Amino acid sequence: MVRTTETSTEKAAERSADCLFCKIVAGEISADMVAESESAVAFKDINPKAPVHVLVVPRKHHADVSALAGASPEALADVVALADQVASDLADGQYRLICNVGPKAGQTVFHAHAHVLAGTQLTGF
Ligand code: 5GP
Repeated sequence: MVRTTETSTEKAAERSADCLFCKIVAGEISADMVAESESAVAFKDINPKAPVHVLVVPRKHHADVSALAGASPEALADVVALADQVASDLADGQYRLICNVGPKAGQTVFHAHAHVLAGTQLTGF
């Protein structure tokens, strides 16, 4: 596994207090981790909507994917690359990638993330 080379002090400065996914990234709240890269981690959704339902989140805090895209397109590309790896490792490489941005889209956790849904025939839009 690739580890970030940042110091813990630098990481702490890029966290948001009381952010659930920042706590999962830091290991303060447990999650079923399935993969990680230098800039992102992937763990199973606690309330899966498909046989494979994994959340891919950047290590650094950004409120949503829109903010992540503006601040660091490279980190967003890393999220997509890790999602693609997870879909190949845990399913057959066919997947749906969903990013909810804002409450109207259904976002409930305000740390950027992508849902990887796979492992079955997905229906709907
Ligand atoms: P959103 O609705 O913000 O796009 O997605 C947030 C996701 O986080 C939901 O699918 C929800 O089930 C998941 N989630 C919420 N709390 C936890 C948790 O404590 N652990 C894990 N693994 N997933 C969580």
